[in-house]
Parts: sequence; C-alpha cells; structure tokens
Amino acid sequence: MSQAVTNNLEAFWMPFTANRQFKKNPRMLVGAKDMHYTAADGRQILDGTAGLWCCNAGHGRPKVVEAIQKQAAELDYAPAFQMGHPKAFELAARLSAMMPKPLDHVFFTNSGSESVETALKTAIAYHRAKGNAAKTRLIGRQRGYHGVNFGGISVGGISGNRKMFGSLLTGVDHIRDTHDIERNAFTRGQPEHGAEFADDLLNVIKLHDASTIAAVIVEPMAGSTGVLIPPKGYLERLRKICDDNDILLIFDEVITGFGRLGSAFAVDHFGVVPDMVTTAKGLTSGTVPMGAVFVSSSIYEAFMQGPEHMIEFFHGYTYSGHPLACAAALGTLDTYEDEGLMTRGAELADHWADALHSLKDHPHVIDIRNMGLIGAVELEPIAGEPTKRAFSAFLKAFEEGLMIRTTGDIIALSPPLIISRAQIDEVFGILGKVLKAID
Ligand code: PMP
Repeated sequence: MSQAVTNNLEAFWMPFTANRQFKKNPRMLVGAKDMHYTAADGRQILDGTAGLWCCNAGHGRPKVVEAIQKQAAELDYAPAFQMGHPKAFELAARLSAMMPKPLDHVFFTNSGSESVETALKTAIAYHRAKGNAAKTRLIGRQRGYHGVNFGGISVGGISGNRKMFGSLLTGVDHIRDTHDIERNAFTRGQPEHGAEFADDLLNVIKLHDASTIAAVIVEPMAGSTGVLIPPKGYLERLRKICDDNDILLIFDEVITGFGRLGSAFAVDHFGVVPDMVTTAKGLTSGTVPMGAVFVSSSIYEAFMQGPEHMIEFFHGYTYSGHPLACAAALGTLDTYEDEGLMTRGAELADHWADALHSLKDHPHVIDIRNMGLIGAVELEPIAGEPTKRAFSAFLKAFEEGLMIRTTGDIIALSPPLIISRAQIDEVFGILGKVLKAID
C-alpha cells in the first residue's frame, strides 16, 4: 500500500466502524468503475452492495460524471432560500412524473436521515395547518431504520443506535416488525404470513387515540435491519388503518427507491400509495449527497392554503437542491432511462433468486430472503457472540474480492442494477465459498 494511502489513519473518526480494529487492518478503496471497486493493493472488488445500497447505476458512469463536472464549472452553488436555479425545478418535475399521483411535490434534502426528519416534521405541521394541532405522535416499527438524526432514531427500532443518546423524542410509539422466520423461512418474494402485524397499529390507536397520532413511518421493505420483505397484504392493511384514522403513512424508500425492487419505487411494486415517500441514495447513484421527500398534493395544499403563518415552510437546508446534486441526479435519471435500469431488477429477479436460494444448504444458513435485486442470507449466530459469524464472512468475502454488507448475523446483498447474469453467478460462487470457509 502506498504511503499516500496509509500515512495518517488517526484523525478520521470513522462512522459505524470499530475504529481501532479497522485501523490495524484498513480496507481502503481507491477507485471504482462500473461493477468494481479497486482496492489500495490493486485488487478488483466486485461490488455486491452498490456501495451502501446507493450506487444503483454502477460506478463512474459517463453521463453522471460529465453532468457533475459541467455543473461545477457553470453554477457551483445557488442559495436555496428565496432563490432558485432551473435544475432544481427540472429535477423536481421529472421526479414527480415518476411517482404515482397524488405524490406530486418534492422537497430536497442531502441524505436519507434528513429526508426522514423532513417527513416527520411535515406530518406534524400538516395536521397543525389543518387545525389538528394535537396530532403529533409518531409511530415506527421495532426493526426499523430511519437514519441517525434524533427523529429517525426515535421512530427507528435499533437499540444500538438509540441507547447512547438519552431519552430521544417524546410521543413516539412502535409497532412490531414483520420478521418471522419461524413461519416464513426461505420464502421467495413476499411471505404468506404476517399481514396481521399491521393490526398492532389498531392497539396503538386504542391506547393513544387517533386524535393524537400524526403519522406512521415504515420501510416498505426494511433494508438495514436485514432485508425484511413485507408479508402479502400487510402494506395494504396499514394503508387502510391510516385512512380510517386520518393518520399519514410515510414510506421510507431510501433503499427501495430507484429500481431496487424491479420498479422505480416500492410504491409501484406493491401498489400501495402512501402520503409521503422519503428517498436518497439511488437518486444520484451515490455520487453527490442528496435526498428527496415526495409529498401528496393534499399535504402541499394544506400549507399553501393554510393559516397565513404556515404558507412558508420553516424548514430547509443550505444545500437543499444543491446544483451539483441536481446535475448528478439528472445525469443519473438519464442513465437509468437510457439503460432501462428501473425495471432491470424485475428482469433479473428469477436468476437472482435462483442463485441466492442455491445457498440454502450451506453451513450456518437459517433463512434466505429476496425481492428484485436485493437479498439476505441469515446465519445462525454464535452463542454469546452475535454478529461475529457474519462479520467473519464480510472479511473473508473482501479477501476473496467481493463486497457484501452485514447487519447483525444477516448478510445483505444489493448490487448495482447493471450487474450481468455472469456476475450474479460470481457473487454467489464467492459467497458459497466464504460460507464454507468460516466457522
Ligand atoms: N432510511 C433508510 C430506510 C435507510 O436505509 C437509510 C440508510 N441506510 C437512511 C434512512 C439514512 O440515510 P443516510 O445514511 O443517507 O442519512
């Protein structure tokens, strides 16, 4: 490894990483093109995770690179408040045309976490604008991941992400997640059992009364907590309960957005339309930080026609609709369109599922889940040492030239949508070898 790469590892406090362990044996990436990363030692690493579930168009794609370069030279920054630039409007119009009605307005952020905070604040302010100021309570799920800001960790359900940070937001409750491998193990696609988990919401309503509840936020398919595919009928049931009780339904599509499930959004895939959709990641294929929140026309209109003091939404970021991010997103959408990437996950779904489920009888495997171009292999945890087995698989896979992601003892896979059938076979060939090699 060259000095330039290893010179000083101390200063950077790395997120979600055991820093001491990493710095003893750093895994450095120095380049990326299409389906591969280049490691500092020159090895090609097959990207089995699209970076962090974000580089959906693959790496170093010409239209995206050119768009960013051109924009940096032309208009590097424009204030986001009381000022505009054409690409932000163009992008919002193009995005809203991709979403089913009535999700036809778009608010820009810089990340998934900011999209979530924006949606939660919008939900509370919306009810206030409608004269229902008591509707403030937010409902999440036990195995939910909604980023790392205070709203997101409050509605989220990952204890590790919450316990260091005090009492969090008040007025938050959780319903159960749909992880149920006793009934649904090794299901391909949507599991049969579990629609009734949605009825937990009825209990929460009984407890707190609908007049105090603003919104429910769920990942239509939970990614970071282990690729949990919604049971048949579950999302439909949540939608109905929300409708019956004037509760907004928010889909967190930070992972599922932009082609992951074989359609542009999970909204299309499941045919259930929420009141808001949070996105980020695939919006720019991971190249420039950006997020977007889709809101329904009735939410937007509630502000536009609401009380005088709410016509301006007192929320936004210095970099909302940043010109470089907008250019990157437009270049990304062009690439998705030119190459048919929004439906490629559907075309490859059977090949992907066959290859993934061929790992069924490998050592330690207790469940496999899939949909579109996403998959999970759940491993039996080593008693008293949760996460250790999957993490050894992660290290071994990197050694073997494959990038995977682990969460607890679950291996998650979500390659760029440009992956070929041969590369899918390569991913599972390496993973099979890894599972046989670890304890
Ligand atoms: N929501 C979901 C569903 C996510 O998967 C993530 C990131 N994995 C986030 C929010 C947070 O996104 P970011 O890391 O860009 O803040």
